[in-house]
Amino acid sequence: MERLETKLIHAGEPRPRPEGSIAIPIYQSATFETTGVEEGYHDVRYARLSNTPNHLALHAKLAALENAEAALVTASGMAAITTSLLSLLESGDHVLAHKVLYGGTASFMKQDLPGLGVSVGVIDASDPSTWRKALTERTRAIYVETITNPTMEVADLEAVVSFARENGLVSMIDNTFASPVNFRPAEHGFDLSLHSATKYLNGHSDLIAGAVIGRKELIRKIGLKLDHFGGSLDPHACFLLHRGMKTLALRVRQQNVSALELARHLESHPAVERVNYPGLESSPSHARAARLLDGYGGMLSFVPRGGLEAARALCGRLRLGALAPSLGGVETLVTRPAETSHVATPASQLEKLGIPRSLIRVSVGIEAVEDLLEDFDQALG
Ligand code: PLP
Repeated sequence: MERLETKLIHAGEPRPRPEGSIAIPIYQSATFETTGVEEGYHDVRYARLSNTPNHLALHAKLAALENAEAALVTASGMAAITTSLLSLLESGDHVLAHKVLYGGTASFMKQDLPGLGVSVGVIDASDPSTWRKALTERTRAIYVETITNPTMEVADLEAVVSFARENGLVSMIDNTFASPVNFRPAEHGFDLSLHSATKYLNGHSDLIAGAVIGRKELIRKIGLKLDHFGGSLDPHACFLLHRGMKTLALRVRQQNVSALELARHLESHPAVERVNYPGLESSPSHARAARLLDGYGGMLSFVPRGGLEAARALCGRLRLGALAPSLGGVETLVTRPAETSHVATPASQLEKLGIPRSLIRVSVGIEAVEDLLEDFDQALG
C-alpha cells in the first residue's frame, strides 16, 4: 500500500488526467448532463449532491488518507459535525459526549439537540469506569476529540472504541487537531472521524470546509442528509482544499517539531505557570499520546504568570503570532479560548474545565522555530 505522502499527491485523482491537466480542473458547474442511469434524486449530477469530479476526488483521497472506507466533504466543520449527529440521532435518542469539546460542538449539543428531543450525557472520556452509569437504553453514539481543545488532553480513545462496540454505539471522533498525519481513527476502530478541514487539511487559513470519514454505510446515510440540509462544499472550495492538502504531511511534521520545541521552551520559562501539550513528559496524556499518535501536533496552550492582565499584554506584544481564532494554518495564531471558542461556556465552568481566562492557545505555524521562540521570549518580557 502506498504511503500517506504519496496518497496526498495521487490518491483519488482521475486517471487518465482530464486533458492531461496535472492539477484537477475546477468543475464550476452547478449541474451536469444526465447519463440516463440515475436511479433517483440522490444520483442526479448536481453540485449540492456533492458529486462533481472535484468532490469525488476529495472523497476518495480523504478515505485513503485515514485508511477508511469512504468520506464526504461539507461546507464547514460544523456542517460535518451537525449533519453527522442529526443523521444518527432522532427524537428520544441520547448521545454521550466528552466534557471538553470544541465550543461550537458543545453549544450545538447543549442548545440545539435538546430542542430536537435528543439528550446529551456528559462524560469524562479519560475515565471509562464512569461511563456505564451514563448509558441509557436510547444511547446511540459516543463523541470525543483526538486532542481536546484547548486543554490538549488525549482521552482513553481505545476504551471509547471498545465501549462503543460492547454497547452498540456509533463511535465518533473529531480528528481536526491531530490530522490524518498524526492519527487515523479507522485504524483504531472508530466508526466516524470528523474534521474542520478549515484547519490542518487545508492549512492556509483561506477557506471554510469540513469532512466526515469512516464506515461506508454511515457515510452514505450522512450524505443523503447532507443532500437535504444543503451544507455541501462549492467546487471552487473543493479545488482549494485539494490543493492545500497536497502539502499536509510536510506542514504537519514541521508543526509537530516546532510545537514540541516551543512547548519545552515555554515550560522552562520563569514567566510561565503551566503548559498543556501531549508531547511534554509533564502532560497527564503523554504516555497515551506516545502510544497512539504519530506526532503530538501543532497545538499547545499555556498560562502565563500574572493572570488575565499578563495574558492580554503578552498577546498584544507578539509580533509573529497573530491574535486570531482558528488554527492549523501555516502562520502562527494565538487566541484566548475563554473569549473565542469557549465564549458560550459559563465563567464558573471554565476554571473547572481547565480553561482559565488567562489560558493562551497557540496554533504553531511553519515559521522558523528560532524566530517563534524569540517572539514569545520578547512577549513574555
Ligand atoms: N472542530 C474543531 C476541533 C474546531 O476547532 C473547529 C473550529 O474551530 C470546528 C470543529 C468547526 O469547524 P468550522 O469552523 O470549519 O465549522
